[in-house]
Amino acid sequence: MSRHRNVRGYNYDEDFEDDDMYGQSVEDDCCISPATANQFIYSRQERQAPKEEPLEEEEDEDEDVPMSPTISHNLNPLDQAKLFSCLDQMRTVLGDAVSDSVLTQAAIRCGFDPQKALEAVLSEDTQKVPVNRSTTEETTSVTRVSQEKAPLPQRAKQEAVAEKAKSRDAPHNKVDSEVVPKVARMTVSGKKQTMGFEVPSMGENGVVTASLRRGGSPEDATASSEATTKRPGTPSKGSNGDEPSTVPTPGRTSGKARQSINIKAELEKRQGGKPLLNLVVIGHVDAGKSTLMGHLLYLLGNVNKRTMHKYEQESKKAGKASFAYAWVLDETGEERDRGVTMDVGMTKFETNSKVVTLMDAPGHKDFIPNMITGAAQADVAVLVVDASRGEFEAGFEAGGQTREHALLVRSLGVTQLAVAVNKMDQVNWQQERFQDITSKLGHFLKQAGFKDSDVFYIPTSGLSGENLTARSSVSELTSWFSGPSLLEQIDGFKAPQRSIDKPFRLCVSDVFKDQGSGFCVTGKIEAGYIQTGDRILAMPPNETCTVKGITMHDEALDWAAAGDHVSLTVTGMDIIKINVGCVFCDPKEPVKVCTRFRARVLLFNIEVPITQGFPVLLHYQTVSEPATIRKLISVLHKSSGEVLKKKPKCLSKGMNAIVEVQTQRPVSLELYKDYKELGRFMLRYVGSTIAAGVVTEIKK
Ligand code: GDP
Repeated sequence: MSRHRNVRGYNYDEDFEDDDMYGQSVEDDCCISPATANQFIYSRQERQAPKEEPLEEEEDEDEDVPMSPTISHNLNPLDQAKLFSCLDQMRTVLGDAVSDSVLTQAAIRCGFDPQKALEAVLSEDTQKVPVNRSTTEETTSVTRVSQEKAPLPQRAKQEAVAEKAKSRDAPHNKVDSEVVPKVARMTVSGKKQTMGFEVPSMGENGVVTASLRRGGSPEDATASSEATTKRPGTPSKGSNGDEPSTVPTPGRTSGKARQSINIKAELEKRQGGKPLLNLVVIGHVDAGKSTLMGHLLYLLGNVNKRTMHKYEQESKKAGKASFAYAWVLDETGEERDRGVTMDVGMTKFETNSKVVTLMDAPGHKDFIPNMITGAAQADVAVLVVDASRGEFEAGFEAGGQTREHALLVRSLGVTQLAVAVNKMDQVNWQQERFQDITSKLGHFLKQAGFKDSDVFYIPTSGLSGENLTARSSVSELTSWFSGPSLLEQIDGFKAPQRSIDKPFRLCVSDVFKDQGSGFCVTGKIEAGYIQTGDRILAMPPNETCTVKGITMHDEALDWAAAGDHVSLTVTGMDIIKINVGCVFCDPKEPVKVCTRFRARVLLFNIEVPITQGFPVLLHYQTVSEPATIRKLISVLHKSSGEVLKKKPKCLSKGMNAIVEVQTQRPVSLELYKDYKELGRFMLRYVGSTIAAGVVTEIKK
């Protein structure tokens, strides 16, 4: 079961206060500052500069020894004490920038006078900095000019900076790229990456460049090179030039070559030919969604007795015994404490004819954006309503989530809906209550765009498990209801057509660092298919990477296709560049990226009319991006689509219109006519959904 997490704009610092961050403990990458880290990084380039600074060679070896033993041992105890004191004072100014041997010699030469010794070291060091040394030339000369006037400690600092720059730019050889700085390899989170360790990497012609990439380990670079060598025809979009397009990989052979597969035949073979169905569970908070689905999973044998017993005991202890089944889906402590689903939980179960990926969407108003993420990835939905007196009404009235959720899923392309009229035990399985609810809902759902023939009502009790996996035997119910159980209804849904023939598209719903090289992204494949070893492009960052592994429901796969919820392990890319909402695509036929697009929108029940410049939140797939209504182009007739008015001053509720939307940052979109899944969106304003739309034109 995986959880979606909105990482866009994530404050990684906050997460670092937690014990665990994306499966990696804080202790593992305890916050070492780049300066401190340098002390622990084995740096071959420093070791390989003996001609210029022979004493530094010794220094590395004697890191724990404060001074050269041969020199200090020749001194009498009083002079040794003076030397230590002098070295201490020099160290406070110079830090570790200059080796102990150099300091010791200078201290002895200057009669243990720290001031004089410091000056001697600094003037000596300045002379040693070569004038025409590669890219540090500018830095060094600037340093020298300014240091003439700078006070001593500052000068020392400048020297230290120059020293570091010098060592960074010192010539490397091939072997350097094989040395993996440990700290860089630990780069797993945004926080670490912002530290900007520079990992040496090899340039195109074998020239070593100080890579500007932040984070990504040389292993990643190797991986990317592997793919490049594997598929020479693949265009390599070298991340704005900072990722070398061709990287020689000494000592590594390329992995297994990509075999071409007949994806349709493979899909038919998979899971005994059972089609895949993505199902989202929606409804007002406390309607009983988690309990219903948790109990269904339990009855299907997806939760073993021991685990269920544990949940029962734990929930009892926590004084929430009635939530035991909900705990199957509500995974996090906070969800359990608050008794509400916050995130979209995902799990898998099978019916007679389908493999179902179940998404349990949060019902609470505050988590609608998460719910949109779940709904955008769904093919069909189960709407859960609470049959208890007053409760159905509360969820259905303005402000309740029953209406909003139903509207959202319909706008996001869900056409088939099962309505679980839940908690029927609370109303003694009364037929009148059931009919009352279904007639009210039916009227509304029709207005929302659902066909009567695609909506199915099932009386249930999530708590007692009635009518979930088997038809009920409760006489109060069987006396008037002989329809299918919830599971039968799910089994009866038509599996949607997948866009397998189109170029690959996956919208990222989570990004995290797992063990091993690279990092993982999860999401639903909206179009095309993917195989391990494929090179894919992430947009908007415009970065390519290699797919090292594919997993679906914790099972490793060689390929996955449209409709599958997968986790991809990718290498050759920096994790910090990837956000929730990024789209991974085929590098040859990339997804479109823009900040301005035109769309046909349907306005919901809005109170404030929409005018030019109206601020909104644009939601589609896993994206949530601030935007404005840049232009009101025209008002359209609802059914014919004919233009009723050009350049309207404002748009009010229920209108159909063409508008131009401007986003703050670039977003990856498609025209609705090309890719329905990536061309459909919602607009929200101050916590409520104000419109649904489809992209008709991409501007820039
Ligand atoms: P969610 O917010 O929609 O996921 O709702 P939960 O599954 O967390 O359930 C909310 C509360 O309703 C819990 O106390 C459940 O025990 C209770 N509940 C859920 N289903 C039923 C049911 O069929 N009958 C009764 N009596 N209570 C239920």
